[in-house]
Amino acid sequence: MSALDRARDLVRERGGAELAERLEHLDARASAPAVTLGPIRAPDRGATPDFDVVVAGGGLATLIVPSLCRAGLRVAVLDRGEIGVSHREWNAAAHELEPLVRAGIVSSTELDALVLNRYRDGFCRWAGGGTYPVQGVLDHAIDAGGLLAATRRASEALGATLRPRHEVLGLRAGASGVTVVGRAADGPFALSARVVIDARGAASSAGRADLLCPTVGGVLEGLAEGDAPDEIDPTVGEILATTEGLRDARQHIWEAFPGRPRQTTVYLFYYAPAAQVGPGVLTALYARFFETLPRYKRGEARLVKPTFGHIPGWSRLKPQARSISPRIVPFGDSAARHSPLTFCGFGKMLRTFEPAAARVVDALNRGEGPGDITPEEPIHALTGALAWMVARPPVRPDQADALNRLLDAAFATLHSMGPEPYAALLRDEMGAADFTRFLHTTSRLRPEVYAEVHRVLGVRGAGRWAASLAGRLLAQLAA
Ligand SMILES: Cc1cc2nc3c(=O)[nH]c(=O)nc-3n(C[C@H](O)[C@H](O)[C@H](O)COP(=O)(O)OP(=O)(O)OC[C@H]3O[C@@H](n4cnc5c(N)ncnc54)[C@H](O)[C@@H]3O)c2cc1C
Repeated sequence: MSALDRARDLVRERGGAELAERLEHLDARASAPAVTLGPIRAPDRGATPDFDVVVAGGGLATLIVPSLCRAGLRVAVLDRGEIGVSHREWNAAAHELEPLVRAGIVSSTELDALVLNRYRDGFCRWAGGGTYPVQGVLDHAIDAGGLLAATRRASEALGATLRPRHEVLGLRAGASGVTVVGRAADGPFALSARVVIDARGAASSAGRADLLCPTVGGVLEGLAEGDAPDEIDPTVGEILATTEGLRDARQHIWEAFPGRPRQTTVYLFYYAPAAQVGPGVLTALYARFFETLPRYKRGEARLVKPTFGHIPGWSRLKPQARSISPRIVPFGDSAARHSPLTFCGFGKMLRTFEPAAARVVDALNRGEGPGDITPEEPIHALTGALAWMVARPPVRPDQADALNRLLDAAFATLHSMGPEPYAALLRDEMGAADFTRFLHTTSRLRPEVYAEVHRVLGVRGAGRWAASLAGRLLAQLAA
């Protein structure tokens, strides 16, 4: 049996038929177009739509649903699979979780119960380089299944209509609404809404994401516990770690987040230009995960819950494709607006679901489509170029460790800048002045970075990046 078949079988055996199908679907659809438009009629002007808002995709983006319902909107959620069923495990800092209580999705006691583990600190570690501890970043491991179940309960209690096993295949926007067509277990369906929130995740991000982060792994038991590099310390989160240089032209990166007692969520991922991610990459990455895990952590590892996906990102080096109508609104991974450096879509969702809901309510009160509902964070205009460089590492055999060396210089710099700037970069909060200091010090430690910037971004790209940095600096000085 090939390594790919073994990986597929393990996901099916430990995750069940639905997860195995999801893996197959994601692997086949990595580069599918955002919206399939067939001969669909837009709703007639003046007709009463079935719903005010249809949320297409019942994953993490369902966090927006209770706020929409509370504003009196009639909301439906459609998903090709089950609604509000976690296929991930998530981490966030304590203050990032507060909106969940504010939006009435959970009480503070319930939120406490969703926190599986709190870490003393976290770290980033680069092969052949140093270990750089940081506090207050991704230091709360969350029960993702519990959070989504609570969101589902809150949505239903507030009157939302939930339609699992409804695959959205086509959208057609008119002047006052959108027709949604698709396939359900009992045949094709069509319905209408004043606004469609496209929350189909990576499957719907084509055109808006120029980066993809294929990620596989899951909850493991049986890893050796202790404080050696190849052991798991249950009080520490391993945010980013490499154990080797480039393999197959990719820099593979590990992360490990201890959760329930004796369980740890472990991921393996890499950054890539979206155009280079073809079918089958998640299964191939799973095969590598099982093969190389023993070089990262020792023990008798047993996969108890497979979790995987593509996390889309946008480098900000080129303008992002616009939605085809202000009434079809990308949200969550479909919008690809989270940090292109950390790919923390959970953190971004926690920061944005309340303002996004307010924008939808506001626009509908004015009788308009809301257009863009995801607030942009200024730091991403600066970190996008760094992510693009990580996605396009130098591939000459004698440079297999070059990216590790650069990352080591960058994190040595961050660590030397102090706990606040270091944590701020990872939490998307760093200002332009600190970012400039970070780039300057890193380039002194590793002057080869100038040649890398030139190779990856070209003169024009580097110029645009420098202009963006100068613009942010001036804005910060003026503020
Ligand atoms: C393995 C993994 C680990 C992660 N860990 C973290 C973390 O620790 N911290 C962090 O900040 N972020 C993390 N992320 C990122 C985070 O999970 C995503 O950013 C987030 O889930 C995006 O939410 P979403 O609702 O946009 O998409 P998703 O949660 O992916 O939901 C999309 C939904 O759309 C449905 N769908 C797809 N196509 C259709 C269709 N045609 N019709 C109907 N429904 C459809 C899918 O079934 C799915 O339920 C992780 C991502 C992955 C893949």
